[in-house]
Amino acid sequence: MEYNPEVHSIKCPKCGHGMEEVGYGGVMIDRCTSCMGLWFDTGEADALKKKWMGDALDTGKADEGKKWDTVEDIACPRCGRDMDKAADPKQTHIWYEVCGEHGMFMDAGEFTDYKHETLADRFRSLIKGSR
Ligand SMILES: [Zn+2]
Ligand SMILES: [Zn+2]
Repeated sequence: MEYNPEVHSIKCPKCGHGMEEVGYGGVMIDRCTSCMGLWFDTGEADALKKKWMGDALDTGKADEGKKWDTVEDIACPRCGRDMDKAADPKQTHIWYEVCGEHGMFMDAGEFTDYKHETLADRFRSLIKGSR
């Protein structure tokens, strides 16, 4: 859907279409109506990860998200500054864009991956700890 400030909360930093607010369990995030990428204001991704609610929100296909993985140098939808590419130190296959002040952007499917990987990492550290 074309970005329309009256309907959409923010403009998608990746594909330029409108993002709409979606809420789950008291946390509101923004999801792109076109590429299904997700915008998390600072702290929201962690809040959702803890609540195990990402599956309901990250409804885009990971394949669709991967197409947009190649779009680099995106600007923060809140302040317009270039965002940094970042990877979770424990999950280096997942790259996302971060604005130090406002939040982070993930392609469709990445949040689900992020959450599940974290659980796998926890298992690994449990196994490691028992040796
Ligand atoms: Zn988009
Ligand atoms: Zn910003």
